[in-house]
Formats: sequence, C-alpha cells, structure tokens
Amino acid sequence: MARSVLVTGGNRGIGLAIARAFQAAGDKVAVTHRGSGAPEGLFGVQCDVTDPDQVAAAFDEVEAAHGRVEVLVANAGITDDTLLLRMSEEQFGRVIDANLAGSYRVAKRAASSMLRNRFGRMIFISSVVGLSGGPGQVNYAASKAGLVGMARSIARELGSRSITANVVAPGYVKTEMTDDLPEERKKEILGQVPLSRMADPEEVAGAVRWLASDEAGYVTGAVIPVDGGLGMGH
Ligand code: NDP
Repeated sequence: MARSVLVTGGNRGIGLAIARAFQAAGDKVAVTHRGSGAPEGLFGVQCDVTDPDQVAAAFDEVEAAHGRVEVLVANAGITDDTLLLRMSEEQFGRVIDANLAGSYRVAKRAASSMLRNRFGRMIFISSVVGLSGGPGQVNYAASKAGLVGMARSIARELGSRSITANVVAPGYVKTEMTDDLPEERKKEILGQVPLSRMADPEEVAGAVRWLASDEAGYVTGAVIPVDGGLGMGH
C-alpha cells in the first residue's frame, strides 16, 4: 500500500537517501527544502521548520497532493559547534530551534492527521552524540537528546491509536555535514568506530524504512543506533 511520506530536509544528505528509499518502495514521498527546489522525481515543498506558518502551509500542500501524512521523518537539522564558554545564546537557541523545536512543530501537525487516520509512524533523526555527548556540541547534543524524550512522550500519548514514535541515532555518515570535519578529527573518530568506516546515508535510510514498515508495528519509543558500534552500551 503506497503511503504518504514526508521527509523534512529530504532535499539532500541523509534525508534524500531516506526519501529515495521510500520512493523505491512505491510510496508517495514529499520532501521539504528551503529554496533549493526538490531533487528530480520528488514532490518538494518549501519549508523552514523554524517557522510554524511554513510548516502548516507545507503540510497542507503535501496533503492536497498525496493525502494525509502517514509517515513523518523529522530529519532536518543543523550544527553550530563551539566550546561551551564561547557558545552564544544565539548559537545555542538556533540549533535547538531547528533540531528540537522544528521536530516538535512537524510532529504536532502530523499528529492531527495521524489521529484522524488512526495510524501513523513518526521517526526522529537524532545522533549518537545525543546520547554520548560531544565536545563543542552542547547545543547539538542537547537538541538530539531532547528528541528521545519527545519521541517517547509521543509514543505514550498516541500509542493507543496505532501511532508509533521512534528515534534513529546515526553515528558518522558521509554527507556535507561531516565533509566539513577536519581530516585529523575524521581519523580520530574512525579510530573509535568498531566498523572502522563512516556510514553511507542509505544505511540510515534502511533503519528508517524498517521502522515505518508493518514489520515494525510493535516497536515504539525505541532508539535504534546506526553507528558502526560507536555508541555501544547506550
Ligand atoms: P546536511 O547538512 O547534509 O542536510 C541537512 C538538511 O536539513 C538539509 O536538507 C537542510 O535543508 C535541512 N535543514 C536544516 N535546517 C533546516 C530548517 N530550519 N528547516 C528545514 N530544513 C532544514 O545534513 P545530514 O544529511 O548529514 O543530516 C541529516 C540529519 O541527520 C540531521 O538532523 C543531522 O543532525 C543528523 N545526523 C547526521 C549525521 C552525519 O554524520 N551526517 C550523524 C548523526 C545525525 P537546506 O538544503 O535547505 O539547507
């Protein structure tokens, strides 16, 4: 059965791999972008998740085209790293607003559709760093840890209506976000990863697709690591 899927930040990186995986399985997939347009073959809506009005308009547009959103992947996210003592209010707030409050905004809007359908799958893209912490990432790690509490609260609130809420926590994935890391830091990181390599975005997409599938119907409030073993023990 083709489902209506919305992936925030699905115009590139991990989000795009997720969107393509759902598309390959025959689902009706929409992605958000912030002006770049949608990649070939995907239905795109312009949406900055920090703006509640844009979130509302994007959902209306997607639902007019594809029907009520049944699968939400809250993937849009940013980093703005620096050490705690140098981190400004603005830097802290900006990352929380995009990663955590942005996910709240899309989850809230998706929940109203899912409640009417008495079915839904919400998947939040967190990070290994949300569980283990990372130097220079007080804002980012806090936002990603916050997603776990949020997903688990949603799982409890909406579980009786066949709506699941789960978290995927990737380790280091080959995207523009990690391209920016200095070579030295990349080497250091890979030294700590049991699988000794970064993930391909498609490997994150596989876990997300599974969480949205019928096979995962009894999985909710879970945190699924896709991190090459980096966070073992969480
Ligand atoms: P990229 O930097 O490649 O892409 C980020 C995506 O998020 C883009 O589509 C971007 O849109 C979108 N985005 C950012 N801010 C907003 C906003 N305010 N409103 C709407 N869209 C926004 O990142 P990745 O693909 O690497 O990361 C995707 C997710 O996975 C993020 O949440 C990230 O934290 C997480 N993650 C990534 C890891 C990695 O190693 N790469 C590891 C663990 C987690 P635009 O094109 O308009 O900028």
